Order: sequence, then C-alpha cells, then structure tokens
Amino acid sequence: MRLILLGPPGAGKGTQSQILVSKFGVPQLSTGDMLRAAVEAGTDIGKRAKAVMDAGELVSDIIVNAIVAERIDQPDCANGFILDGFPRTLAQADAVEAMLEERGLTLDAVIELVVDDKALVGRIEKRAEEAKAAGKPVRKDDNPEIFEERLREYYKKTAPLTGYYYAKGKLHTVDGMASIEEVTAQIEEVLRSL
Ligand code: AMP
Repeated sequence: MRLILLGPPGAGKGTQSQILVSKFGVPQLSTGDMLRAAVEAGTDIGKRAKAVMDAGELVSDIIVNAIVAERIDQPDCANGFILDGFPRTLAQADAVEAMLEERGLTLDAVIELVVDDKALVGRIEKRAEEAKAAGKPVRKDDNPEIFEERLREYYKKTAPLTGYYYAKGKLHTVDGMASIEEVTAQIEEVLRSL
C-alpha cells in the first residue's frame, strides 16, 4: 500500500498515519519528523533546515526529495508506506512520480483531509498545550504567528497538488472535520474502493 495523505498543517495527517500504521503495518514517512530528527541530531541537513522550519516556510525540494528517496529504499518500506507531509510542492510531486517509476512501483491513492482554516488554528494550539502538559517539547512552529505562515505556504505551494492528483485520477477527499474514528472509517472506505 502506497498512500499520500494531503492536507494543511493540523488536518490530522499525523494522527491518521499512525492509525494506518497500526492497522496495515506499513511505515509512516513524515518529512516533518525526519527533518526535526535531523535538527535534533545537528546534521548538516538539520542545520540548513532549522531556520526555515522555525519560520514556518518550506525546506528546499532538493533536501526533502533526497531524504525521502533514501528512506523508501529501507527494507521496512518493501510493502508500502504512508507519505505524511510529502509531497508539498509540485516539484516534489514530480519527484515522487520519478522515484516510484524508477523502482517499478505505483501510488495507490492520495487522500486529502479537508478541514476549515478556523479549526486548524485551534488544533495547533491544542497540540502545543497537550505537549506542554505532557512535559514534551513544544514545536517552535506550533504558535499562531508561525502557523499563519505555514498555512500561507500550504495554500501557495501545496494546495495545487489536489488538482495535480485529481487529473491523475488519484485524489480522494475525506471530511477531516469529523471525529478521528470517523475520518479513519472514511479512509478505510477509500482503500476498500481501490
Ligand atoms: P510538518 O511536521 O509536516 O508540519 O512539517 C514541519 C516543517 O518541516 C514544515 O513547516 C516545513 O518547514 C518542513 N517540512 C516538512 N515536510 C516538508 C516538505 N515535504 N517540504 C518542505 N518542507 C517540509
């Protein structure tokens, strides 16, 4: 199973990916998580990405494409993967296509989680509060000002991907405003229909 979860920050891509991981046993490939790990580890990529991420902007296509290309060759991706937060630009979408083609693989579906902007800000604030309460580090970009920039980046660079995948017959939309369980049920329905 090779899936892309598409949607703005706070739409629930991470939450749904984790549920799908436990149901289908394929890994979640979150470029955000991978980049945060690189920042934490102080690698060259992490050093280059940190300021961009803290500002809520997108890291360069070259960097993220390289990270994903390396990751999908790992043995745990042999039966598929869920791309969470990647691709985020048309150039990245073209890169995914090339990566899959080179490996003789195909994409099963792109699932877009549709959520109202107003709800997104509230979700991000909640995520920050929950992390704080659990004694976990709060993401620097999970604050209202940076969130606005992340949302602007989403509409400018990522939203066009819906048209891109619609044209390829791969796009499926689900109501991301529904409860976590209902969203999972909608995704499973899409997977059954493939
Ligand atoms: P996320 O955890 O998916 O919200 O990503 C956090 C941040 O990591 C984003 O705001 C970007 O700065 C960076 N990032 C994650 N995925 C990508 C991507 N596919 N392309 C460019 N930047 C990314």
